[in-house]
Amino acid sequence: MQACRNLAHGRIFPRWESRRDTLIGFCGQKDAHTCHLGLEVAVGSGEDVYSHIVDSFGTNVMGSYARVVTVNPLHEKLPKLIVFASITCSSFVASWVLEHWQLMKREWDVHCRATVGPVIGHASDGDSKRRKLMLVDYGGSSCVRWKLDWDGWIFSGVVSPIGDVYDLGDQDPPHNGKKLVNLLYRSTHPLVLGDHHACLEHVQLIYKLYPHDMHALNFDDVVRRDRQNWAGPQRLCSRQVQKCLKMLEDRGDVHRERTLGTRLYLEVVADYIDIFYSLSLDLQSRVVLCTKVFFFFRLW
Ligand SMILES: [Zn+2]
Repeated sequence: MQACRNLAHGRIFPRWESRRDTLIGFCGQKDAHTCHLGLEVAVGSGEDVYSHIVDSFGTNVMGSYARVVTVNPLHEKLPKLIVFASITCSSFVASWVLEHWQLMKREWDVHCRATVGPVIGHASDGDSKRRKLMLVDYGGSSCVRWKLDWDGWIFSGVVSPIGDVYDLGDQDPPHNGKKLVNLLYRSTHPLVLGDHHACLEHVQLIYKLYPHDMHALNFDDVVRRDRQNWAGPQRLCSRQVQKCLKMLEDRGDVHRERTLGTRLYLEVVADYIDIFYSLSLDLQSRVVLCTKVFFFFRLW
């Protein structure tokens, strides 16, 4: 999976890298700028060092985004691994991404392939530069992706019942999971499932009624003030939350709610995430979940 994240709220770049006496955090010269991979500006010694440092800020672009590629081997004994990280101002082009892919694949083949297996494709957040390369990957004669020997659906999208098109084929699973959960936050388009409906109010109610250790939700998860809150949507569709929603339905007091719609919807989103990130499911179980999720949205 790969994505660019804004570092505005994180560490302030650039900074001095003492081991090599360089400044890191710039992504290339301002003139005719293109992002440069692994740029380090030498500092050195002498009387003009200070002005050299000041000039570096004038002549170079500061990268305020980090581009990161992570690998999740889906094995209990292998950790999730950041295999690539780079600074960028987010004005990079597809060839820059391709350079990373090729570099990463070379290193992967040397260090990881024997243990984890080959790189067979690239998931991303759907940014147009990466998407362009992914399409080439899927369709090119010399593509690195291993394709199924199958003429049917292998790269497609899902149309939600309210008419929005979501590319569930080419974006990375956390993005898609977040998009699916986002539908709950929209008060203008309630999600209707037969005689039931899925809504955020049910989740807000369990946050209010039950202690944190029963659902593990944070306040921001149920109000969604921060659109970069990635963990929130995943907590929202956890099995703990589904269990609390069932308890809400079984209550005998005024707080009782019909939560079947919300539970079902969150269950399907959780299944979708599990297809890609569960450490315990075997391949057959993943295929079963793929079918379940796919037909749920298709029939809905
Ligand atoms: Zn740049």
